[in-house]
Amino acid sequence: MKVRLILGDQLNQKHSWFEQVDDNIIYVMFEMRQETDYVKHHIQKIVAFFLAMRNFRDDLSDQGHQFIYYTLEDEKNQHDLHKNLRQVMSDCDADSWEYQLPDEYRLDQQLIDIAQSEPWSCEAVDTEHFYTSRDDFAAFFEGKSSFLMENFYRYMRKREEVLLEGDDPMGGDWNYDAENRKKFPQKEDVPESYSQTRDVTDMVEMIRESGVESMGSIQADQFSWPVTQKEADEALQFFLEQLLPKFGTYQDAMTERSDFLFHSRLSFLMNSKILSPKKVVEKTEAYFLEHRDKIQISNVEGFIRQILGWREYMRGIYWHQMPDYAQLNYFDQNQELPSFYWTGETQMNCMHHAIRNSLENAYAHHIQRLMITGNFALLAGVNPDQVDAWYLGVYIDAIEWVEMPNTRGMSQFADGGIVATKPYISSANYIHKMGDYCKNCYYDRKKKTGDKACPFNSLYWHFIAEHEDKLSNNFRMGMMYRVWNRYDEETQRDILNQARQYLNQIDQL
Ligand code: FAD
Ligand code: SF4
Repeated sequence: MKVRLILGDQLNQKHSWFEQVDDNIIYVMFEMRQETDYVKHHIQKIVAFFLAMRNFRDDLSDQGHQFIYYTLEDEKNQHDLHKNLRQVMSDCDADSWEYQLPDEYRLDQQLIDIAQSEPWSCEAVDTEHFYTSRDDFAAFFEGKSSFLMENFYRYMRKREEVLLEGDDPMGGDWNYDAENRKKFPQKEDVPESYSQTRDVTDMVEMIRESGVESMGSIQADQFSWPVTQKEADEALQFFLEQLLPKFGTYQDAMTERSDFLFHSRLSFLMNSKILSPKKVVEKTEAYFLEHRDKIQISNVEGFIRQILGWREYMRGIYWHQMPDYAQLNYFDQNQELPSFYWTGETQMNCMHHAIRNSLENAYAHHIQRLMITGNFALLAGVNPDQVDAWYLGVYIDAIEWVEMPNTRGMSQFADGGIVATKPYISSANYIHKMGDYCKNCYYDRKKKTGDKACPFNSLYWHFIAEHEDKLSNNFRMGMMYRVWNRYDEETQRDILNQARQYLNQIDQL
């Protein structure tokens, strides 16, 4: 017998493994404490992965494939990948096994260790999910002085022939980012979002009774995240019809009135490999070409860039830079993550909504992650290990290969500029420009100092002043230093004092 291991984020039913039913092959899947406990996860994330795994097993069993599946409470389950594999190999009297290359460094190392320490013959195969292999990225950037995403993205557009007219970009431009920065108007209705509901009370009870610690909340009788192949197709279709036409326009917008706006919420489906990124890109392009009179290219290009560009790029960065990347802390930040990240209880309205969304839905859209919670953590000097752990736990789509380059790299600039050309920091100006949080906030967005001054303002200038040695030569930051240096000494002192006062009582903000 041969054993084939399937990890919880390898739910690709179209993998060539499943083309033929073979009675000499047993597929194995485990719900393990090793995976639920390496960081504290959102309860909805744990439920979504277990549900998706069980559905995957059921679908493929229906097609005739043989499965051994350990649930969390299975008495044979030893909650450790190596021990469980040993058990299965012995139970099946198997002498060979195969696995699909994992997407996390941690698991990659563990699987290599298992393969080297056991006598069974072993083969590792591709997941057949991503556009690029682990090594494509290194090959593309070899000899180049920086890892510019835009260059990689254009290469991918050409290589995959996406949104092209001949050799040229459809519509004339490669990138329509400048058109994708509109504020969401008060008069415009918020869009519906795709959801279906199922009762997951039993599963939540099983997880809690097993002693797994989690964060966030769940409405167990109305769990709404899509987890099956059929639901993935419905969610994609819903996105194309209802959300794509305005996706790009409001990509960076933030509003109290909607937690999801025009975002697709397809990241969990893609990261668990239920939904293929190629399918998403191909269907999006085809839908656009069919409805060209109704959809502007800026909306479509903005969406495709996230998947064909950013998603593949972040994975490339991860495999190119690990394991050292996980240790980077460019600004030597060492503060604790403020306590309100775990409760949402803060008078900063923008932070309250971004954290509430995260805790209630295991989700926040990109600009909330980057310019609200990420921005604040960076300005507050939080240790990137703690920021990483929070992001890795709280989001339903968080898997280290994509979470870490986004958090440690793009959002915290802890990599010193491998991913981003400058830190993504802002004062209240940007948050007000792109959102409607400030109008209902306890704090005053226009004030830098004094009673109810917005914390983002003084913390922003404090950060600029504190890291002058590392940032003043950055060509994209020069303007900020010129503004800071135009303030007189007294103003600078007042702003810095205000920031220090806030930093000293950060949990009370
Ligand atoms: P949409 O806005 O609808 O975008 C479509 C798709 O594009 C997403 O589903 C995703 O697959 C892809 N995408 C968009 N931006 C990125 C990006 N920067 N990197 C990689 N893929 C991208 N994404 C994750 O999938 N997992 C994470 O753990 C994660 N952590 C993040 C942490 C921080 C601090 C930041 C700033 C971003 C993070 N992102 C992460 C990227 C992005 O925020 C999410 O992919 C997106 O919010 C998911 O929601 P959506 O499916 O509605 O995305
Ligand atoms: Fe956020 Fe400041 Fe605006 Fe309040 S005033 S919502 S804290 S940016």
